[in-house]
Amino acid sequence: MPEEVTKKRICKRCLLFQVPDMAELAKVIRERIDLLPEDEKAPEQVMQDRLSLCKMCDHLNDGTCGLCGCYVELRAAKRHMHCPGVPKKW
Ligand code: SF4
Repeated sequence: MPEEVTKKRICKRCLLFQVPDMAELAKVIRERIDLLPEDEKAPEQVMQDRLSLCKMCDHLNDGTCGLCGCYVELRAAKRHMHCPGVPKKW
């Protein structure tokens, strides 16, 4: 996908008002990760390596990816997911 197209897909995380605070949101994301079937989970080190790249990325926005709108911790926890960037960072 051309870069100018991906730049138009920035997600501002609508419905944020439904989440009381970031700690509550983090808890929900952790629960979602814990509920993933083991064969769908990325190995812990793979997830951490992915998140290290997200932490250096300009598209990271309060735990979400500005390109796809995903919560990056949940995306990185899934074995078959990848970075939506062009080129992919992981
Ligand atoms: S998933 Fe890719 S584009 Fe999104 S924040 Fe992480 S490194 Fe950046």
